[in-house]
Amino acid sequence: MNTTAPQCTLFVVAAPSGAGKSTLVNALLEREPAISLSISHTTRPPRPGEQYGRHYYFVERDAFEQEIADGIFLEHAEVHGNLYGTSRNTVDTLLAEGRDVLLEIDWQGARQIRKSKPDCVSVFILPPSRAELERRLRGRGSDSAEVIARRLHNSREEIAHAHEFDYIIVNDNFDDALGDLQSIVRAVRQRSGLQWKRHEALIQELLA
Ligand code: GDP
Ligand code: ADP
Ligand code: 5GP
Repeated sequence: MNTTAPQCTLFVVAAPSGAGKSTLVNALLEREPAISLSISHTTRPPRPGEQYGRHYYFVERDAFEQEIADGIFLEHAEVHGNLYGTSRNTVDTLLAEGRDVLLEIDWQGARQIRKSKPDCVSVFILPPSRAELERRLRGRGSDSAEVIARRLHNSREEIAHAHEFDYIIVNDNFDDALGDLQSIVRAVRQRSGLQWKRHEALIQELLA
């Protein structure tokens, strides 16, 4: 199925681990309930408190590789030594239902999405400094020292691709960054191409 309702947008959000992407996205979804978050599949083990189907669909590597072979992913990538992927069916079903959809994925996945869904809107989140990124990764308290070191090391590669995104937000003051993210969503929704279709009846009436 590839029948995206005309007024829907696919948002892609990426960031180096610890920049505050998930915290910002969760706060955005509270303010903008019309957006649905796509839950990814991953081979990463769950962190304490993470639930199957709520944070991720946690799967074994064998099962993930079979899912790749079955073509169920719209995009997939290896990130920090784990496989992550977005279900094609989930995204297409939500878009066809008329929902905006948000993907929290890495730069490699974002690149694949831009190819298959060129109308997507992509946002990259930067931390305010390297020291603060490290502080947030440690402060989150969810990963081992080894995993944190790997994520910090990988942050350079992720950040080197920020220019490929439509928008860049620096997550220094949280409320400012959330406001910036919400502004992007709101501005995209008022694009004339979308509004023309959304308000077809109004425009017909005004032109009659
Ligand atoms: P965190 O988001 O950095 O706290 O850590 P995660 O382990 O949840 O995610 C690790 C990386 O995988 C991040 O760069 C995510 O954006 C990326 N990621 C998560 N889900 C997906 C996905 O479905 N596809 C792709 N390509 N990347 C994903
Ligand atoms: P990501 O999803 O990018 O890996 P998280 O959303 O898990 O990052 O955020 C990492 C940590 O930083 C969390 O403990 C979160 O509460 C904290 N955090 C997020 N944004 C800010 C901010 N603007 N100022 C201070 N701490 C923040
Ligand atoms: P974490 O393991 O900390 O939840 O996520 C680590 C990284 O994996 C994050 O940068 C996150 O954006 C990325 N990620 C999560 N899900 C996906 C996905 O479905 N596809 C891709 N490409 N990356 C993902």
